Amino acid sequence: MLTAEQSERLVELRRDFHRHPELSHQEHRTAAIVADRLRELGLHRVRTAVGQTGVVGVLQGTRPGRTVMLRADIDALPLTEADRGQPYRSVQQGTHHACGHDGHTAVLLTVAELLTARKADLAGTVLFVFQPAEERVGGAEGMLQDRALDPRPDACFGLHLWNELEVGQVDVRPGPIYASADAFVITLTGSGGHAAMPHQAADPVLASAELVIALQTLVSRDSPPIEPAVLTIGSIHGGTASNIIPNQVELQGTLRVFDPVVRQRLLDRLRAVVDGVAATFRVTPEITMTDCCPACINDTAMAQLVEGVARRVVGPRNVGSSMRTMGADDMSLFLNAVPGCYFFVGSANRERGLNSPHHSPTFDFDERALDVGVQMLTSVALEFLERG
Ligand SMILES: [Zn+2]
Ligand SMILES: [Zn+2]
Repeated sequence: MLTAEQSERLVELRRDFHRHPELSHQEHRTAAIVADRLRELGLHRVRTAVGQTGVVGVLQGTRPGRTVMLRADIDALPLTEADRGQPYRSVQQGTHHACGHDGHTAVLLTVAELLTARKADLAGTVLFVFQPAEERVGGAEGMLQDRALDPRPDACFGLHLWNELEVGQVDVRPGPIYASADAFVITLTGSGGHAAMPHQAADPVLASAELVIALQTLVSRDSPPIEPAVLTIGSIHGGTASNIIPNQVELQGTLRVFDPVVRQRLLDRLRAVVDGVAATFRVTPEITMTDCCPACINDTAMAQLVEGVARRVVGPRNVGSSMRTMGADDMSLFLNAVPGCYFFVGSANRERGLNSPHHSPTFDFDERALDVGVQMLTSVALEFLERG
């Protein structure tokens, strides 16, 4: 589907984004390149600053029809990329496209180019959504508030390059594929005192130790055993010296669940367990929910459509349906608004050592995955519109 020249430009584009990564809601250079390219294509409409640094382009086909939305995330992560001698290494110390969003952006721009070339026989409208700040799961919300979904799509699709799959493979399944994420901060406040006279104080250190254990019962006792759930306390801070009982301890954690009903139940239990432990140890609890994001749940019919396309693009033997992750992605907000499907495009190459985990300093992928991504999204959009 792509000419050699188009493939080359696609790789160049990805490498340019890779060299110049930008953190969540600071994607000014990336957004400017995206907007310029979409304008050059002569799209019907290009909007910038949608949800701060997001860009939306609208391609209207010559024939009437439905509207399909394609989404790419554009932000990078706050970590330094390892030097493996790659010529396109990040020039921004401390910022690295360690999740493949550089690839997603380059893929969607190329898809826009290919679909624009077919404008004359395109039935319907394509909405290209370039979303900022996925890594902080805050970008989609801002875009929705800024009416990114205009015109209102009938379906939405997106892909994630995935290093747990070899290049040439695609994985798609109906139902949940990314978990909901609820990040929280718990502070336990007691009354400080002397380490040798604990009876004169209320000890938030002991209370927090009990709480870390007690919170694990959300997963082991409150969640149905066949439903995946995970709760991690990733940070715990309090105290200054061995002979002082501090008056406050702060814990930070995250809860990940696929099922929205289980999610609500566990959030209720989280509050109850915190209150109960705090009461036991005579400390005052406070819970602040920080970043929250629902699960990505694929529509069955849309997942079937993507699977059919994948079978043609990479061959039936290379299409899987087993990938799910307890990670979160705010593509979920679009999927909640419009039926759609988010799927994985394999990007690892074990032989070439391109299989580091996402978010790691050595993360990189086999760029042949970009071609697969372009073919997938282009064909998915065309198939959805052609079905009318
Ligand atoms: Zn990521
Ligand atoms: Zn990502």
